[in-house]
Amino acid sequence: MRIAIFGPPGAGKGTQGVRLAEKLNIAHLATGDMLRAEVAGGTDLGNQAKQFMDRGDLVPDDLIIGMIQSRLTGGSGMVLDGFPRTIAQAQALDDALRQANMPLDKTIYFKVDRDELVNRLLNRAAEQGRSDDTLETINRRMDVYEEQTAPVLDYYNSSGKVIEIDGTGTPDDVFQRLVAAVESGS
Ligand code: ADP
Repeated sequence: MRIAIFGPPGAGKGTQGVRLAEKLNIAHLATGDMLRAEVAGGTDLGNQAKQFMDRGDLVPDDLIIGMIQSRLTGGSGMVLDGFPRTIAQAQALDDALRQANMPLDKTIYFKVDRDELVNRLLNRAAEQGRSDDTLETINRRMDVYEEQTAPVLDYYNSSGKVIEIDGTGTPDDVFQRLVAAVESGS
């Protein structure tokens, strides 16, 4: 099963993506996690990416596409979390998956109101101290999401159905909805 999870920052993609990949026993490919590992490792890619991440901007498409392409292995499947985030990334993903003859099975969107998202991210800032969880950067990430990533949902909606899930409630509530959506035939 190949699943892409979309949603604004703070919608719970990471938490739910890890759980879903474990349940289905498939890979969890999260570009945000990969980038943070590159930054922590002080690699060239990490050093280039850091300035964009710290501002709340997207890392340029060529860097992201290069980073993820080698990890799009066949295997039994994958949960894509935080990728694709631009139309160019979605097109690159489509091409790669078409060539490998392994299209996405499901695209899932977590819906959460902006006020709730900002609250969640400020709480996460207090708990985890992620360097991009300041109020200014959070607002920038929300705007970037609306400008650059929301159009990707329209792109997928035009070729198939995006399954919308209510991302509010406890993580267990959301996970139940997610599993139900993945297991449904739609
Ligand atoms: P969140 O969705 O909470 O903002 P992520 O961990 O998914 O968190 O992403 C953190 C940052 O990493 C983003 O703000 C962006 O700078 C960068 N990033 C992650 N995935 C991508 C991507 N697919 N394209 C461009 N930048 C990305």
